Amino acid sequence: MNYTPISDKITPLQLEFAARCISDAQSIAIITHQNPDGDALGSSLAMRHFLLSLGKQNVTNIVPTSFPDFLAWLPGLDSVIQYEQNPDAAAAALRDADLVICTDLAEPTRVAALSPVLTERFNSYAASRESGESGNSIDSRNSGASGLLIIDHHLSKVCTEQPEQIAYPDSASASELVFRLAYQLTKSQNGATSRTIVEPKVDQRRSKVEAILDFTCGIAGVLSEDFATCIYTGMMTDTGNFSYNSCHPEMYNIVAILLTTGINKDVIYDRVFNAWAADRMRLVGYCLYHKMQLFPEYHTALITLNRREMYRFNAKSGDMEGIVNMPLQIKDIYYSIFMREDKIPPHQKEEAGDAKVKAKISFRSQGDRPVNKLAREVFRGGGHMNASGGEFFGTVDEAAKKFIETMPQYMQKE
Ligand code: 5GP
Ligand code: MN
Repeated sequence: MNYTPISDKITPLQLEFAARCISDAQSIAIITHQNPDGDALGSSLAMRHFLLSLGKQNVTNIVPTSFPDFLAWLPGLDSVIQYEQNPDAAAAALRDADLVICTDLAEPTRVAALSPVLTERFNSYAASRESGESGNSIDSRNSGASGLLIIDHHLSKVCTEQPEQIAYPDSASASELVFRLAYQLTKSQNGATSRTIVEPKVDQRRSKVEAILDFTCGIAGVLSEDFATCIYTGMMTDTGNFSYNSCHPEMYNIVAILLTTGINKDVIYDRVFNAWAADRMRLVGYCLYHKMQLFPEYHTALITLNRREMYRFNAKSGDMEGIVNMPLQIKDIYYSIFMREDKIPPHQKEEAGDAKVKAKISFRSQGDRPVNKLAREVFRGGGHMNASGGEFFGTVDEAAKKFIETMPQYMQKE
């Protein structure tokens, strides 16, 4: 058996396409999903660090909505254009860029008020691809202000044949995919072919470790510490500090490479996970003590928070992060649902009809128990098998009622 520290997951076609559209573009905008989490910010900031290290000068990160305080220290976040603070500049940067790179994002509707602009980009890319297909060369697909590259790991868009979609749902994070892209591009740029290390016999374990380190240190030399910090943050947050979706051995080879750039993973953990406001701790206590409903027959937990409750605990969007995972720590609870009330943003007013508020819903599950079907079919959302999201126009109580009605259809009794 051959042992490769990091396999060439991104196909040659995708790699060539990415290399070409990056090198052709004068201006590049990188965008990620609304309410960005550690992977969304980590993957998109890392992408910019990488492009800057390649010598690209006009590279802009755009974030559709605010981000949680516990991520505000990420390197490069100070130069991000946040739509809510600077709508005109964000829309213009997105519209005018030669190339738009979406990380942790494959659907143009997941960028809040920027959705119409990003949808337009998806459409113009599709149109240019169609007109270019007769010329059948890869470079005719990305020209003018219509270039598009997607780096994502969401289930709703499984596609590895289309070169613009570096979309691998089996990857635990989009950050891992950004790393792989940077790594494979760096390798091919350095003229290295995929180097395979023959797996040694058990008594030769030491030389195997040395061979991996030798290989990884070589690559790490060209990846910056800022890049590695962002990638590590995304990998860490999307796996719950490597506690789920985290069994693939290559993940740890990637971490080994990141560590050789000099990053301190313990400091990153501390900044992300030990940065709670006291109010947030009290809010979690309130949710678990007063608000958690259990449905033992369906192995399900449900927590709802209305606007009054959120106000009482001074809750900001990041403060609710992670609450949905907590009930899964209860024995025999395999599904967890968290609903919080939100205002209806201007771009959704029409769809929302008479509803005054909406419920933003997170779904989590363990093992072979999909929640994305429920998110997609009942709550206008989608996502991964074990982590999905959706929304409902109405109060959280109305959303909870709808959930409880549909629970028997989607939750396995076992
Ligand atoms: P969260 O519960 O952390 O907001 O979202 C978990 C996952 O669900 C996200 O990574 C994303 O894949 C998916 N997700 C969340 N909200 C939506 C949504 O409104 N639409 C879709 N398609 N997916 C969502
Ligand atoms: Mn992600």
